[in-house]
Amino acid sequence: MDQASLPPHVLIFPLPLQGPVNSMFKLAELLCLSGLHVTFLLTKHTHSRLFRDTTTACHLNRYPGFRLETIPDGLPADHPRSGDRVMEILDSLKSTSKPLFKDVLTTGRPVTCVVADGFLGFTLDVAKEMGIPVIYSRTLSACCLWIFYCLPKLIEAGEVPFQGHDLDAPVRSVPGMEPFLRRRNLPSFCRSSDLSNPFIQLCMMESQETPRAYGLIINTFEELEGSVLSNIRTLCPNLYTIGPLHAHLKTKLRTGPKAPPPTPSNSLWQEDRSCMAWLDAQVSESVIYVSFGSLTVLSSEQLMEIWNGLVNSETRFLWVIRPDLVAGSKKWVDQVPAERGYIVSWAPQEEVLSHSAIGGFLTHSGWNSTLESVYEGVPMICCPNYADQQVNSRFVEEVWNVGLDMKDCCDRQTVEKIVRDLMEVRKDEFASSAEKMAKLAREAVSEGGSSYHNLVRLIKDIEAMDS
Ligand code: UDP
Repeated sequence: MDQASLPPHVLIFPLPLQGPVNSMFKLAELLCLSGLHVTFLLTKHTHSRLFRDTTTACHLNRYPGFRLETIPDGLPADHPRSGDRVMEILDSLKSTSKPLFKDVLTTGRPVTCVVADGFLGFTLDVAKEMGIPVIYSRTLSACCLWIFYCLPKLIEAGEVPFQGHDLDAPVRSVPGMEPFLRRRNLPSFCRSSDLSNPFIQLCMMESQETPRAYGLIINTFEELEGSVLSNIRTLCPNLYTIGPLHAHLKTKLRTGPKAPPPTPSNSLWQEDRSCMAWLDAQVSESVIYVSFGSLTVLSSEQLMEIWNGLVNSETRFLWVIRPDLVAGSKKWVDQVPAERGYIVSWAPQEEVLSHSAIGGFLTHSGWNSTLESVYEGVPMICCPNYADQQVNSRFVEEVWNVGLDMKDCCDRQTVEKIVRDLMEVRKDEFASSAEKMAKLAREAVSEGGSSYHNLVRLIKDIEAMDS
């Protein structure tokens, strides 16, 4: 086939973290299913964790137009690459990957379009120089993104940074969120003593850069974050709101004419599937699923408070305790007695959330976890830590009414009470509003729905770039 008759070729470059890698693999698969060619760029370290043995070969290789490429992240082999070191990962990627990224773009098949994480701003400079359009992708919530955009305003008004006190003070400088936004809902890096905080600087810079891109993909849906999205559109009009990304595949792969086998979950950790049999043996909607995602680090005191609260609530629980969840110890998964519960080091989360035994989700409120829970209609207890987690928690409780926010308290009495509230006292209320939201999510990704429409538009726009 000569170059001109080949389908458009998209290069996808996600942040090398579990959430973005997972959701961008889903986007890659959706593009492949539509006949586009995709090169997926992973850091060598992420690649070695994803494809750790022969059973984890990339499932996307079944698409003839799919190719994996790797690039070093520049960090030493023994660097933990953990949640509290994200800034180091970003800095190192910028200095190491920028020149190599140019090589990737100039070798092999010409690239029609780059889809890169919005935190990898250097990709825009390199691609623009070569005349290749860049579409940024953001795997954070739109409500958090809007706060990032408003940082200059927040700073000018003296609302950011602030010392970590008076966390219930209202925040006035984020248009549309004035009635309910409190200091505690701002990203935790705003609780800083000075403006040189590197996260504040990074988020301001990358947000100001975003309008230079051809467009912006956000893993959300209009019916969930519509009013926030209208505000973002005033600065960045070409938005592709195509979420929940994982849900398109659930629909497509189940109903497609040549339905391929179900997709694996692209996990950086080995999944312990034994929890599925344990769930099968539990009563419907009786179990609370507990997970803090892939990056959060707890102290051993916090872990013990949560464990005591869960046990005292007399609710059955399935808890993910990653080997690196607790600072300074690798043994917690074996040390916490699984009284009334089941503990694994990593779970097949999407499957867990869709299991009928699950009645609630105690989550760190990472955006992927929030969307997965929304899609399955599972009410949440939010125990946020950083980035978008605080504002996601606020929206869960105050705007969508699909759960409760722990509001910076994580002692055993609070955990016990909040678990009882969600799973018993207010169970029907939350089950009903979570089901309504899940219905909206299902409609968004179904034919004719907002996210379905935006995904089709994205693919058409990429095809038009080639003509
Ligand atoms: N996840 C999983 N198994 C687990 C815990 C998490 O598969 O035991 C997945 C989860 O489904 C989600 C991702 O890891 O897709 C976590 O992303 P999120 O944005 O929620 O949080 P982060 O890890 O970025 O803090």
